[in-house]
Amino acid sequence: MLKRYQELPIGGVVVGGATPQLVKTGSWRSGQKPVYDQQRCIHCLLCWVHCPEATILIERGQMRGFDYEHCKGCGLCAEHCPTGAIQMLKETGGS
Ligand code: SF4
Ligand code: SF4
Repeated sequence: MLKRYQELPIGGVVVGGATPQLVKTGSWRSGQKPVYDQQRCIHCLLCWVHCPEATILIERGQMRGFDYEHCKGCGLCAEHCPTGAIQMLKETGGS
């Protein structure tokens, strides 16, 4: 019989951004990259919470852009942005 969720062992949390210092993960980005509209950003930082590479740049508690050397283009930031401030744009060549 399957266990109920309350009976399962507590899992661990893998903190995002484990690789930025070592590997420039942006070099194998998916072919799309995020851009954001400052006018629509409410600085909720949900993009920062969901980014697996810790590439959302934050200054004094406010969203300030992306570290494209490490952004993989997964699109999670855009998916979770509540205001639609982040769009994923197709890249051409080494942009
Ligand atoms: S999730 Fe969207 S609104 Fe929130 S900080 Fe990021 S870009 Fe701004
Ligand atoms: S697309 Fe967004 S969530 Fe994905 S790595 Fe780049 S900044 Fe992070």
